[in-house]
Amino acid sequence: MLLFANAAQVVTCAGPPRARRGPELADCGVITAAAVVTDREHVVEVGAQQELERKYPNADRVDCARRVLMPGLVDSHTHAIFGRPRYDEQEMRAAGADYMEIARSGGGIHASVRDLRARSEEELYVLAASRLDRLAAFGTTTVEVKSGYGLTVDDELKMLRVARRLADALPLRIVPTFLGAHEIPLEARSAPAGRADYVRLLVSDMIPRVAAEGLAQFVDVFCEPGVFTVEESRSILSAARQAGLRLKLHADELRPSGGAELAAQLGATSADHLAAISHDGIRALAASETVATLLPGTMLFLGKDRQAPARALIEAGVAVALATDFNPGTSPTTNFPLILTLAVSQLRMSVAETILAATVNGAAALGIADRVGQIAPGYSADLALFDIEDVRELPYWYGDRRCHATWVRGRPCHVTTEAQGARP
Ligand SMILES: [Zn+2]
Repeated sequence: MLLFANAAQVVTCAGPPRARRGPELADCGVITAAAVVTDREHVVEVGAQQELERKYPNADRVDCARRVLMPGLVDSHTHAIFGRPRYDEQEMRAAGADYMEIARSGGGIHASVRDLRARSEEELYVLAASRLDRLAAFGTTTVEVKSGYGLTVDDELKMLRVARRLADALPLRIVPTFLGAHEIPLEARSAPAGRADYVRLLVSDMIPRVAAEGLAQFVDVFCEPGVFTVEESRSILSAARQAGLRLKLHADELRPSGGAELAAQLGATSADHLAAISHDGIRALAASETVATLLPGTMLFLGKDRQAPARALIEAGVAVALATDFNPGTSPTTNFPLILTLAVSQLRMSVAETILAATVNGAAALGIADRVGQIAPGYSADLALFDIEDVRELPYWYGDRRCHATWVRGRPCHVTTEAQGARP
């Protein structure tokens, strides 16, 4: 048994084992003079510190030293497996080039595809492991990882095998998603029937193989004008559902195209981006179980003056989550608390809303809200200890790294040198 004592605040996010909506997002469950008891893997009890200290006299103690103890952050949208970073495109955009223009000229995702195809599984594993360490250092304990820079059967499977190795080797909780429909590969774009052939390859070869080898839990599609149409997305996701996989969708990022409506219609677990979602899209999500995952870091990095309409979504009753979208082209940040800052300052969300969006609702966007995202009895002991005294400081010290230590399944995940007891 481990007893976490002397926290300035314990932020439980406790409540029903599903995504929170509307007024439920107003309270993230801040308690004081409280302690948390865990066994090797799960939270056993949360309550008054004095009482729990009497009840568990033999528990090992973690002194939280007046810091804030929270559920570990759940980053439900990343492209963390990639090769070369794409810093060159940042200056091209600054000089006026558009994201879709860069992609059409063979840069953007295509540059990452060329680079990834040339790398070995081992190389990609080493690169991704060090990048995931950085994510963990900011308080993240669950990370969704997508394929999507291979765009051939072998290279997509290579990415998913890297994800599996990462899940086996790292203390982080990793959820793999197959995103073979990230882009139409250049070789298919230049062939007359290439587009239809690639969709057919996804539907009849890649998805069945990914499902048979158990390499992914979700299938995702980049549904956007110029990439996959709503009808192509529908056929790809229908094949995924038939193969027993759950669904995600990159939807309405730059232009409204009916992506959110499609996600709701197909019962997707999440619809992500949504900076250009229509009123109909908002209504469709509000009436569905689909979580709307907002990625404000991406719009900031691309220099767009538009953000997803978080207030309209929340007020309509949509379940909203937040994530980093960590990727080499449009959101090269591993700093999840910075995304919370953007959510408060750009998306006008309250702190409680951002905390629940980054924990419980992130878990719901991965279909694991019954196990992860809360400090409550029976939940996995996925915890983060931040060097702040009030949870409102987490989005406040923007860009700063305040994570002191994290635990996943009750075991230390990220530990600062200070937390290890070795003071410099
Ligand atoms: Zn993405």
